[in-house]
Amino acid sequence: MKILVAVKRVVDHNVKVRVNENDQAVDTTNTKKAINPFCEIAVEEAVRLKENNIANEVVVVSVGSAAVQEQLRTALALGADRGIRVETEQVLEPLAVAKCLKAVVDKEAPDLIFLGKQSIDGDNNQTGQMLAALCNMPQGTFASKVEVAEGTVAVTREIDGGLQTLKLRMPAVITTDLRLNEPRYASLPNIMKAKRKPLQTYSLDALGVQALSQVKLVSVAPPTQRKPGVKAHSVAELIDKLKHEAGVL
Ligand code: AMP
Repeated sequence: MKILVAVKRVVDHNVKVRVNENDQAVDTTNTKKAINPFCEIAVEEAVRLKENNIANEVVVVSVGSAAVQEQLRTALALGADRGIRVETEQVLEPLAVAKCLKAVVDKEAPDLIFLGKQSIDGDNNQTGQMLAALCNMPQGTFASKVEVAEGTVAVTREIDGGLQTLKLRMPAVITTDLRLNEPRYASLPNIMKAKRKPLQTYSLDALGVQALSQVKLVSVAPPTQRKPGVKAHSVAELIDKLKHEAGVL
């Protein structure tokens, strides 16, 4: 069984991001980058399926500039076998990314495709769903448990107020939620080994994908600053402030 995992390069989740001068984007210059946390969970799940002899190959794919090789190498160090980069300098919209991934799916014919449920930079939560539709495959989104059987996969999903389990015929698309697993750290020997693992690049032309943009980003704004609190020295003062300053009583 072959598993394809889509990994996205994003600003590391520990970095406090800033909006750029013209309020058009997050300023990513000189910020630490990492694999999108949900994609890390996707890689971990695929590698565990390989370690349990359920899968025999894990291929990781990323769409982006030469820089995404760093995240592909990290995924290889975490246990993936091979990497594919779809080359583009543009920041693609989810539909265009899904089209690139669909072209890779057509070439690789995986039995399972894992994606993160969401990228933490765009918060789109669209690519997996669009990919499943383009490939005409069943989808299990927000997976918190994945169990592979003969020709099918059971996906337990976290939904409002409980869990839902679906049985999908394979090939299928699964997007991973936070509680699916706890990703491992890459060990130094595996980081060294990952340097020799195969990494192949396709251009958009080679995949026959056009990166059309259908959405215009209008503006980006930071969250409004919270006003500093004040200390009340007595209950009477507190009630007075709630009545006359906060207007909540
Ligand atoms: P999104 O729809 O942008 O929230 O992303 C959901 C998931 O789609 C991510 O967690 C990745 O698995 C995948 N994805 C999004 N963008 C890319 C990309 N540029 N390269 C590879 N995978 C991506």
